[in-house]
Amino acid sequence: MNKNFGNYGGQYVPEALAETLTKLEKAFKDYCYGEEFKYEYKKYLKEYVGRPSLLYHADRLTKLLGGAKIYLKREDLNHTGAHKINNVIGQILLAKHMGKKRVIAETGAGQHGVATATGAALFNMECTIFMGAEDMRRQELNVFKMEMLGAKVQEVTSGTSTLKDAVDMAFEEYVNRADDTFYVVGSVVGPHPYPLMVREFQKVIGEETKSQIMELEGRLPDYLIGCVGGGSNAIGLFYDFLKHEDIKIIGVEAGGKGIKTGFHASAFEDEKVGIIHGMKTYMMTDDEGNIKPAYSISAGLDYPGVGPEHAHLKDIGRVKYVSVTDDEAMAGFKLLSKTEGIIPAIESSHALGYAASIVPKMNKEEIVVINLSGRGDKDVNTAYDYFTKVE
Ligand SMILES: *Cc1c(COP(=O)(O)O)cnc(C)c1O
Repeated sequence: MNKNFGNYGGQYVPEALAETLTKLEKAFKDYCYGEEFKYEYKKYLKEYVGRPSLLYHADRLTKLLGGAKIYLKREDLNHTGAHKINNVIGQILLAKHMGKKRVIAETGAGQHGVATATGAALFNMECTIFMGAEDMRRQELNVFKMEMLGAKVQEVTSGTSTLKDAVDMAFEEYVNRADDTFYVVGSVVGPHPYPLMVREFQKVIGEETKSQIMELEGRLPDYLIGCVGGGSNAIGLFYDFLKHEDIKIIGVEAGGKGIKTGFHASAFEDEKVGIIHGMKTYMMTDDEGNIKPAYSISAGLDYPGVGPEHAHLKDIGRVKYVSVTDDEAMAGFKLLSKTEGIIPAIESSHALGYAASIVPKMNKEEIVVINLSGRGDKDVNTAYDYFTKVE
């Protein structure tokens, strides 16, 4: 398999880990393109996750914005409330096939930790989640959720006690216990084969969208919009449409308090390329080339890098990447809640915020699909603090 997406991706890891990844790649290639895996994966997506997720015509939002016809891909309706479970089910099925008894993952805000703990409970796997001490304090409820699901949450106190340190610990554990342990990565990031593998487990979003829009409209959409943290929900929607060159595709990063303030999470706005978490990609660095901390109101977009396939798609101009600020995203959050009765995740609200700025300029015959990557239940405290402060 090709380890790269154009000039990006690769496998920048120590030798011991490279051996483990070579075995993983082989198992993935041999098993996940076969009929047995496809049958199992589809079965769990249907019976456990609740797929296919709806493609919903947001009629009131369409009328309010007065431009293109808007459809929402409802990943928020999945079990556990977001797209992450699609990937977790795929990876844990592979782990089982490889004879592993234990899964590990790292988590910042806790969403990927909760999704992994959910999959581990379902497949009766031992589960350890690495989480920075600082993040554990901030996300107490998610720590409790993971423990309810039977996972052990391992506190990480090195470095700044946040996500980056949890990632380092998880990689170390993966190398030391490769015989019985599988590392479940949460987005299209990390060393090969993870970015490719996670995309394969998320591309179901776009495949479903394609058949649903053909059924509803008899044609393909004109625009696709998705938010980008690591990039898994976005590439999941985009992938099956990339070959249709007249479809305009837009990825929306978190602009935080504004790019100029430095408080943001947009790897593309920074325009620097380097090595982060075993891959070569666009990332946020300071003048000395060190990774800069990312900031966003949305915990799920708060990542200083971006998946290498997105880096390639940016360079070849196939996908346009933009950013919206916290304020624009929160306006999108409120807009969808009030007009459609759907409270979106703050991550997804970035896609909505951007859509609200361009849809009014489109004509009524055009069709736009927005990926609603998750639901906002987890974000009501953040939204409460935000709106009571600004209003
Ligand atoms: C984690 C998360 C994201 C960001 O991750 P991607 O890999 O970029 O998709 C976006 N939306 C929701 C709801 C999430 O939970």
